[in-house]
Amino acid sequence: MKKTFYVTTPIYYVNAKPHLGSLYSTLIADVIARWQMLKGEKTFFLTGTDEHGQKVAQAAHQAGKSPQEFVDSIIPAFKSVWERYDIAYNIFMRTTLASHKQGAQQLVAQLLKQGDVYKSLYEGWYCVSCETFVTNKDITDTDTVLCTTCGRPTTHVAEETYFFKLSAYQEKLLQWYKDNPHFITPKERSHEIINFVESGLKDISISRTTVPWGVPFPDDSVHTIYVWVEALCNYITAIGYGDSAKQQEFNTIWPADVHVVGKDIIRFHAVYWPALLMAAGLALPKRFLVHGWITVDKQKMSKSLGNVIDPITLCDEYGVDPVRYFLLKHIPITQDGNFSYADLEQCITSELANNLGNLLNRMVMLAEKNNSMSIDAPQQFSPEALKVHAACIDMMHTYDRHMQDYYFHLALNEILHFLHIVNAYFHANEPWKLAKTNMPAFKEVLSVVAHSLRAVAFYIMPVMPEKMRELLQGLGITYTQDTDIFETLRLDNWNQPFTLVTLLPLFTKPDTLMNDEKTVSSIAQQTTQEPVHESTIEFSDWAKVVLRIGTITSAEPVDNSDKLLRMQVDFGTFGLRQILAGIKPFCAIEDIVGTQTVFVYNLKPRKMAGLESQGMLLAGKDEKGAPTIIRPISTVPNGTQLQ
Ligand SMILES: [Zn+2]
Repeated sequence: MKKTFYVTTPIYYVNAKPHLGSLYSTLIADVIARWQMLKGEKTFFLTGTDEHGQKVAQAAHQAGKSPQEFVDSIIPAFKSVWERYDIAYNIFMRTTLASHKQGAQQLVAQLLKQGDVYKSLYEGWYCVSCETFVTNKDITDTDTVLCTTCGRPTTHVAEETYFFKLSAYQEKLLQWYKDNPHFITPKERSHEIINFVESGLKDISISRTTVPWGVPFPDDSVHTIYVWVEALCNYITAIGYGDSAKQQEFNTIWPADVHVVGKDIIRFHAVYWPALLMAAGLALPKRFLVHGWITVDKQKMSKSLGNVIDPITLCDEYGVDPVRYFLLKHIPITQDGNFSYADLEQCITSELANNLGNLLNRMVMLAEKNNSMSIDAPQQFSPEALKVHAACIDMMHTYDRHMQDYYFHLALNEILHFLHIVNAYFHANEPWKLAKTNMPAFKEVLSVVAHSLRAVAFYIMPVMPEKMRELLQGLGITYTQDTDIFETLRLDNWNQPFTLVTLLPLFTKPDTLMNDEKTVSSIAQQTTQEPVHESTIEFSDWAKVVLRIGTITSAEPVDNSDKLLRMQVDFGTFGLRQILAGIKPFCAIEDIVGTQTVFVYNLKPRKMAGLESQGMLLAGKDEKGAPTIIRPISTVPNGTQLQ
């Protein structure tokens, strides 16, 4: 029987509600599962909660509840966030389930029986907050030992515990890392782990006598199984390990194809877990995908800083799919990433609303206006159209390559690049004019855009499932999963007929950057890449806009934004103004300071990243989306009005 593709999130500790970090881990796993499903694979996607341990018992005590009541009360918060974010998991695993306890006990009992586990005295320090033993060699009894991970004071423990012979697996692990170079991705994390193992592994304590809220140790109920060891077992107990009736199911799902984990828990996952599996004679997972941390406005999220972002508030404000897209596209998997509202809003406006949503809307509007909602592919495409087709094929191959490495940000970037090409093709052909002069050419443009959008919809679907289903609906496509859709698209020679459907805009541009102004004139929402449009405006509309030339006298990066530059602009007798623009990635500060350019002078001031922008810079955009600043061909007095 064909193996099921198995992807897991870490199981989350239940002492707090899900936050942006847990959402990010879970989204990664969801995108992987959905991508595999579109490839026609059978998948199994696990998420869940880690519910035992001293910290949970303490939190329950503080809440005046029994540990079981306490954990039961937290679970709905997790489930409701995952439901809101369209997380299509197959199982929500809980370590308080009887089947899990039984499986974890079976694994430990086997290791005990074969001599991989022995009883001895443990003396050392324990961090309750991290639920980990802190090893530190040169400490006197009187010192307060701080946890090397979280910095909190640890407790001294001296108790009899069971040890797992981790040291016996050092060489086997090193050999495994060597034979399986993609076991830990990205590479940097792999080096970190190999160095740790090479520095020497000690046997680890895997039981506690002072933590009653846990799974009883086999044949020794004075002990409970150390919460980390027991929790790791969830990846196998969830799919039938420990239940003889489910052996066959287990065999088709295990080993895991990807364990998604945050960088803070990689040691448990990539050292202890494989060693335990080796000892138990089970296959090892194929890959650990390790992601970094998300900072908010470049600071670590913490309750004391008041910058903890609630996932539900976030999707209420911006919509589920835009947030999913932003986190995958703008937080590179290989490193820590930064979240800022300004960047999120900029991403929704320029990448989603302007580049993707508008392209569909403009095409459908044009088709409707010219009674062409049914489009047949032309017998033969023009060379220009074929170039777009070739770019589409390129996009698909590059996307696949990046997804093999789970470089979501690069894969999505490839789609964005392709969308720029399609937009450029659309504008260059001026279909609104062709509709009056050359109907077959007009229809060809529509067909090219529709085929391009169809490919884009499927390739972004793992990230934005709902919005892409809507997009397909706009193209008149109902999709039911059967085979590898990506292969179908790669082989497609664009002969598909389409029946377009008018939809509401796919994406709503955020009203303002930073949400502190809800009414902004429509012009403020138009970014510089707003397309040429065939509709006309009255002279009186145009006369409302005041464009002036000013000199940029200084420019500096804005603290909590990756894109914004804060400029001082000299408008001569019209004064000095602060203006913000999202051009930082595209130009060097020294190239723009001292130059003259064009600004919308009478745009109502608006807040961006917490700073007031008193006007708007105008720029052209090239096909890759990089802005080109407009300069007068000779110097003019600052404040000169364009008319
Ligand atoms: Zn700690």
